[in-house]
Amino acid sequence: MTWTWRLFTVRGIEVRVHPTMLLVVCWAAWHWGTHAFDPLLGVLFSLFLIIAIFVSVAGHELAHAIFAHRSGLAVNGITLLPIGGVAQIEPAPLLPTQEARIAWAGPALNLCVTLLLTPVVVVSCLSRGINSIVQLAMVMREASVTNFVLVVWGANLCLALFNLVPAFPLDGGRVLRAWLTVIFGRRIAGQVAVLFGYAAGVALLLAGLYFRDPLIGIIAVFMLAATLIEQRLLRLELAMRRLPVGQFAVWDMGGIAPDASLVHALHGGPRDLAVVDAEGQVVGMLWREDVLRYAALAYELTVRDVMDPHPVTVDLSLPVYDAYLRMLETGHPAVPVTERGRYRGIFTADRLLHVYRFLGSQQRKRDYSLVLAELLGLVAR
Ligand SMILES: [Zn+2]
Repeated sequence: MTWTWRLFTVRGIEVRVHPTMLLVVCWAAWHWGTHAFDPLLGVLFSLFLIIAIFVSVAGHELAHAIFAHRSGLAVNGITLLPIGGVAQIEPAPLLPTQEARIAWAGPALNLCVTLLLTPVVVVSCLSRGINSIVQLAMVMREASVTNFVLVVWGANLCLALFNLVPAFPLDGGRVLRAWLTVIFGRRIAGQVAVLFGYAAGVALLLAGLYFRDPLIGIIAVFMLAATLIEQRLLRLELAMRRLPVGQFAVWDMGGIAPDASLVHALHGGPRDLAVVDAEGQVVGMLWREDVLRYAALAYELTVRDVMDPHPVTVDLSLPVYDAYLRMLETGHPAVPVTERGRYRGIFTADRLLHVYRFLGSQQRKRDYSLVLAELLGLVAR
């Protein structure tokens, strides 16, 4: 995310803050500054409060990030925004159990903080004669040291409970999707999670209108937008699962021979090339970055000297989606496509663009046919 300031780094994960957070700090300082008996105490209280809440949010996101990192995913950092935190985790194939564990980690951390602070909150409530949630909410608005603990406790409890609502894109929705995937498979699980996401987004939007609270409205719009993106990704994934990778592979002159000079690999510009022997078997991969690294020695080296001798290949009947997952797993931008062990072409990250275009044209055709069917229906009526 651009335009962010770096706060600190935990286990190599950078925590950054978006400048719009300054608006929240100003609003909180104004709110408590004008509502407290002592304005200076109110402003100080608001600053400590903002820090405490955002440490809780950062902790929540860090828990996600650490568990994602343990599952082998690359984490690009965490950004704190006025509506919450976002952990930038690279998408990659995960088992449902791993997905559920990563999703659980955030709310679990907030629940732990809530449990740790509960004895202090109980003692504070007993000593002040607070015996209802309404009274507690009223007391929380006052700027004082004991209220600080109460607000941190309340913020962590709300963070945990809100995120455990089983609607996408909230953590509860991800846990639900992971469980449903085990029972019903990816398609139904994804569709149910999207449906729950829309239902929760609309319910929140109505709540925002009812309470006339713009923050609830913003969170609802954010949830609806995230659900829409998830729905599109799911549709794309399901479509990509139906297309064979062979349809999108490029023949690329049949790859390159292992004994060829590296100079040949530079013809037509350096690119990822499958290394293919005389029998048509893929014996290695020549990665673009290695060709560039050894370009100065191209006349002295052969392809065999520089190639990766452990290529991962895919059969041309394999769905495009699985080929894409294979590329994510290996971390390489290309995969050789074979037919009964013989080289048939290469599938690269660039080819994904052609897949999207193909699916886009298919989608449009289907949409027009639907419009046509509707028109015909009207005519028939
Ligand atoms: Zn979360």
